[in-house]
Amino acid sequence: MAKMFIAGESVDSVTGETYEVRNPVNGDVVDTVPKGNVDDARRAVDAAEAVFEEWSHTSAEERAGLLFKAAELVEAERKSLAELLTREQGKPFQEASGELEHFNHGIDFYAGLASKVRGAQVPLPAKNAYGMVVRKPLGVCGAIVPWNFPITLMGTKVGPALAAGNTVVVKPASSTPLTTIRIIELMNQAGIPKGVLNVITGPGGVVGEELISNPKVRRIAFTGESATGKHVAEVACGDFKRVTLELGGSDPMIVCEDADIQKAITGAMVGRFWNAGQACLAVKRLYVFDKLFDEFVSGLVGKVSRYEVGDGMTRAEKPKIRMGPLHTAAQRDEIESQVKDAIDRGAKVLVGGARPEGSQYEKGHYYLPTILVDVANDSRVVREETFGPVLPIFRVSSLDEAIEKANGSIYGLGSSIWTKNLDNIETAIDRIQAGNVWVNSLHYGYDELPFGGVKASGFGREHGPEALDYYLEPKGVVITR
Ligand code: NAD
Repeated sequence: MAKMFIAGESVDSVTGETYEVRNPVNGDVVDTVPKGNVDDARRAVDAAEAVFEEWSHTSAEERAGLLFKAAELVEAERKSLAELLTREQGKPFQEASGELEHFNHGIDFYAGLASKVRGAQVPLPAKNAYGMVVRKPLGVCGAIVPWNFPITLMGTKVGPALAAGNTVVVKPASSTPLTTIRIIELMNQAGIPKGVLNVITGPGGVVGEELISNPKVRRIAFTGESATGKHVAEVACGDFKRVTLELGGSDPMIVCEDADIQKAITGAMVGRFWNAGQACLAVKRLYVFDKLFDEFVSGLVGKVSRYEVGDGMTRAEKPKIRMGPLHTAAQRDEIESQVKDAIDRGAKVLVGGARPEGSQYEKGHYYLPTILVDVANDSRVVREETFGPVLPIFRVSSLDEAIEKANGSIYGLGSSIWTKNLDNIETAIDRIQAGNVWVNSLHYGYDELPFGGVKASGFGREHGPEALDYYLEPKGVVITR
């Protein structure tokens, strides 16, 4: 049985209660974990608080060295960690392995930045006086993580938090705690002092709720649904915690008439169907210029037909590409009802639109990659986030029309434009309401660049050196001689 990790020890919950983590492919139990409660969360917060003073005064070089070492230990176990991630999450092994690689890259990135934090010396109008800006870590940080990319999204919080000298309590999603627990054990084995990095497991409404309401927690980094994020912000702001929210998205992709059509088709395919479409920054609405609409759509349908759903632990035979099941039954129900709504409003299904047939698929939450056209603008797949392998494609006749439609969403996370025309590129960068614009590029979150949303996609940024700013408080100092 996996255990929580608090104050350098693997522990059960105080009640001894547990719950099962199941494989989305067949419902088999992967492992059991403690069902933590409020007391467990408090225990972890207290442990993180107790060691904050010491950790925040540990030299930046030393903190960096421990993070580099942690990434090495994770890398050495990458294969078995990727297998565990596949079994608890459902994604294909290659995608899981890539997620771990991305996690390590992020930890290395922030380890490298730990010793590069800068303040300022400021001239003042007062006589014999000058100002300084010093930057201080905040204290105990709560890292609340969803199930779709459990490891990278944990790393985007833990990396900058620890590099900046904060201590952390991680709360993974209830259905994906196992790989996280093992990684946090390994990071502690690297020598990170006891209590600096803890993980608690249990229901979000109990242990997560305690993290966001416990006054000893000074910072919440949350990734998840917009509705949960709104609640998190309301509660956490009650005692003035610093909060960042990485929430849902409905990324538009615009393909102009001069686009490199093959590159754009690949961008749409990977951008929508990676992780079975369960990605915040996935391509969720595709706007294609009239002139190349038919050629683009038939090319994309051809490529999407190469997907074969199945167990992520096995590879599909080339040229087929493996896609895993959806993570939960509820997730698939939601996708099915969104597709039905689109069809009821006149949409045509060009590929997919159903569960795969065959007894081998009965136990998993499988759904076929789906492409829709003639989709009405008031359909749920346009208005809501579609967190699964469904792509509605729309015909547009101008960039103005495409941008107006792209912006007609409550979300504003990612977006992309595919064109060689510099005017179009600059117009898109300027006018699309989103935290990120990719130009002729796959929607992908690089560690080097800030990532986050506008509108209902949240506020604050993860990734990039900018993420460190959210884990450091500037303190103004006046010195008079
Ligand atoms: P979710 O909101 O249901 O859960 C996210 C986390 O919050 C989980 O750990 C959950 O246990 C916890 N939680 C639930 N109730 C809580 C409470 N009352 N207090 C504190 N914590 C609580 O989201 P999910 O279904 O796990 O993830 C999918 C969503 O995440 C999608 O909307 C997706 O777009 C979004 N997401 C956003 C980004 C981004 O960077 N913007 C990245 C990945 C996923």
